[in-house]
Amino acid sequence: MEEKTSTTKTIQEAAREVKVCREADVVVVGGGPGGHSAAIAAARSGARTVLVERYGHLGGMATGGIVIQIPHMSDGTEEQQIIGLTQEWLDRLDEIGGCLHPKRDEIGSSDEKLVSYWRRFMGNTVRGRIKQTAWVDPELLKCVLNNMVEESEVKLFLHSWGAQVIVDKNKVRGVIFESKSGRQAILGKVVIDGTGDGDLLPLAGAEFDGTLDPKIRSSMLALVFRLGNCDYQKLCDFREREQERYQELMAELAKVAGTRLVPLPSPRNDVLWVNNWIPDLNCMNVEDLTTLEVEMRKMMLRGHDFMKKNIPTFENSFIIDTASQTGTRGGRRLVGECVVTREDLQAGKEYDDAIAVIPRFDALGDTAHVQIPYRCLVPVKVDGLLVAGRSFSSDMAANNMVNLIPHCIAMGQAAGTAAALAVKNDVNVRDVDIRALQDSLTRQNVPLPGVPSTVSKV
Ligand SMILES: Cc1cc2nc3c(=O)[nH]c(=O)nc-3n(C[C@H](O)[C@H](O)[C@H](O)COP(=O)(O)OP(=O)(O)OC[C@H]3O[C@@H](n4cnc5c(N)ncnc54)[C@H](O)[C@@H]3O)c2cc1C
Repeated sequence: MEEKTSTTKTIQEAAREVKVCREADVVVVGGGPGGHSAAIAAARSGARTVLVERYGHLGGMATGGIVIQIPHMSDGTEEQQIIGLTQEWLDRLDEIGGCLHPKRDEIGSSDEKLVSYWRRFMGNTVRGRIKQTAWVDPELLKCVLNNMVEESEVKLFLHSWGAQVIVDKNKVRGVIFESKSGRQAILGKVVIDGTGDGDLLPLAGAEFDGTLDPKIRSSMLALVFRLGNCDYQKLCDFREREQERYQELMAELAKVAGTRLVPLPSPRNDVLWVNNWIPDLNCMNVEDLTTLEVEMRKMMLRGHDFMKKNIPTFENSFIIDTASQTGTRGGRRLVGECVVTREDLQAGKEYDDAIAVIPRFDALGDTAHVQIPYRCLVPVKVDGLLVAGRSFSSDMAANNMVNLIPHCIAMGQAAGTAAALAVKNDVNVRDVDIRALQDSLTRQNVPLPGVPSTVSKV
């Protein structure tokens, strides 16, 4: 790999006046699963809310990153642990044919025919039962997310990069963003970092941890791409009929491409997305991001050529697109009032301030469901700031497990609701009335400990 260019020189930027383009109750930066959900929840809870997103669409990894599997919403029983805004995404996508997932009354079923159908989709079965995992169309999801923002009356700024945090005496007062209109400020009573990578944390002076073990999944970057003119069921037939040969071909593919490429289903049988895991690059380093974009496209071409020549279903396939958003799984993690650890997940730790329940992880053995405390969204020292999404306060092992899309939506929904409550009651985010927050989340169909969690079958 080429040596990175950097010098020790610095220059002084001139101070400048910045126009305040908006004053709001809640300002959310980053419109991915965490940030979008925070903005929707805040606005629906009565806060004047602004959402700032660097790209021209919302959804983060779930759309721009072409990460189109929304898994781990239930545990194989009839109960669904994650409902709330994630379920709203699925319901709205269902209305426009943008989603493939088991029907509500199939969840938890052990019906052999159903199980053998859904087993072909990764993450839809567990211990011989159906679990809720959805496969979504990223373009239709972009439309759904826009509609939710419009209907909730969130003021949206697209093509806007959150560049600075306005801090006064340890309290966050707003953000500055860059766009084609120049540098502008938005003042807010609460700011929510939904950037995934925790971009606002160093700018706000909040403590964070950016260390990642290079061997774990969330340290690896990716550039997902989609293939058209495929036949997923044909691929499954081949995989089931010739398991060993399939494994050999996948190993050869990784060798030829220079990275592991895994074809996965989508709502359409003829379209697949190809996941990948590129190690040894840092998602917070611009040169590494550049290397990823350039090198991964070479890997894609080599890999696709091999797939066309050697793997049934890809003979006449073509590349539809590459993700407009680099696949970053890790980033900065807040050091919050509570740090969730892998041991906490393993022990099934219970919290008085639980704001989300996440289905137990099979990899951890026979444990209880995972509870997420509100305090892991709240910085230790800085006031007026919350995080929503994968930068929640956690050690790297816990973060590696609890950073899936529905988890980030759940944390975002809680952050937005808490921010609106803080504004309404004129208290700091760390002093939000937890009981009121939990009551509000329960009314939003968010299952919390002790509250039944089955999606209405109406
Ligand atoms: C290749 C890959 C495969 C994955 N597979 C799965 C899977 O199958 N299922 C699953 O559930 N999860 C999967 N994950 C994990 C999951 O996608 C992420 O953890 C999740 O999307 C995180 O949500 P988020 O809202 O915290 O961040 P993101 O999805 O990263 O969204 C962050 C948003 O903030 C915006 N943003 C960032 N910085 C700024 C800024 N400075 N100013 C303005 N806007 C900004 C971004 O453009 C983006 O819209 C995968 C991730 C990757 C990369």
